[in-house]
Order: sequence, then structure tokens, then C-alpha cells
Amino acid sequence: MKVLISNEEIVEISKKIGAKLSEKFAGKFPVVVCVLKGAAPFHAELVKHISIDMEVDYIQVSSYIGKESTGVITFKKDLEVDITGRDVIIVEDIVDTGTTLNALTTELSKRNPNSLTFVSLLDKPSRRKMEAKADYVGKTIDDLFVIGFGLDLDQKYRNLKDVYIYDED
Ligand code: 5GP
Repeated sequence: MKVLISNEEIVEISKKIGAKLSEKFAGKFPVVVCVLKGAAPFHAELVKHISIDMEVDYIQVSSYIGKESTGVITFKKDLEVDITGRDVIIVEDIVDTGTTLNALTTELSKRNPNSLTFVSLLDKPSRRKMEAKADYVGKTIDDLFVIGFGLDLDQKYRNLKDVYIYDED
């Protein structure tokens, strides 16, 4: 398997995005939400580089495309924090079809946060089924299946420290 993004590069990406978030939310107390399970390693790295006061929370969702082209989402684990009036930063592993990002926007907006900001380590714009744009993207990639650093195939490979292009050999 071939390394697509090394751990060193992920740390650099996290430093850059962490600095931007620290600037943007200076004087605020944002909630930095990890979308389980895939984003857990990236979320853990990113928060190390956020220099302002913040809190963490975790959410787990499963999403699918319903009969309409809008995404439908099921919460497997909901947030603990009441996000009403809060600045919420949502950390994802990858934006692929855009279903998860859209469904999270719809669901979390209903709770009247002050702001919603999406961060994704990876972005595969060529796979979109609906419009979806993260505010901060670590790296844009081609239509490749990737594993490692949180990203799985049948729950395996999340523990790899780099991101790899998955192939059969
Ligand atoms: P969506 O299609 O809703 O934008 O993305 C849903 C989820 O599919 C992502 O959060 C991620 O867990 C998974 N996914 C999308 N592309 C890949 C990929 O290339 N590799 C892995 N391991 N998971 C992916």
C-alpha cells in the first residue's frame, strides 16, 4: 500500500488549521466536535494546535441517501453539550458524497448554534452527490479509497499513523 499523506504532513495540516481556528474564535469558547469514529485521530491532533479556550464533544452518526436527494441522518451518539448560542466546530475525516456534512448542518442548525464551522482532513469533491463545502480542508484528493489515521475498511486500519491509498495487494 502506498502512503498518500504522511503523519508529518497531517501534523503540519493540523498546525495550520489550528492556528486559523484560534484566530477566528479568539475571545470565544467554541465546542470542537469529533465525528466518530473516523475523525478521532485528526480531532485529537487538531485540538493540540488550538491555542484558545475550547471544549471537546463527540457525535456518532450514520447517514444514507433517502428517496429525496437530501441526506438523512441517524444519531448513534448525540452531543452532550447544549449548542444553543455556541460556536461549533465540526471535525470530519473526509467529505465524500457530502451526505454527512449536509445532514449534520440540517440537524445541528435546528439547535440554534451561534455558528457552525466544518473542518475536514480530506476532501473528495469529484464524488459529490450534493453541494457540500467544508470551511477548512486539509487536503483535496482524487477519487481514491483511502485508509489509515482513523479511516477504516470494515473497521480495520484505523490505527495506521499515515493515510494510505487502499489497494488489494
Ligand atoms: P459522505 O459520503 O457522507 O460525505 O462521507 C461519509 C463517510 O464515508 C466519511 O465520513 C467516511 O467515514 C466514509 N468515507 C468516504 N470516503 C472514504 C474513503 O476513501 N475511505 C474510507 N475509509 N472511508 C471513506
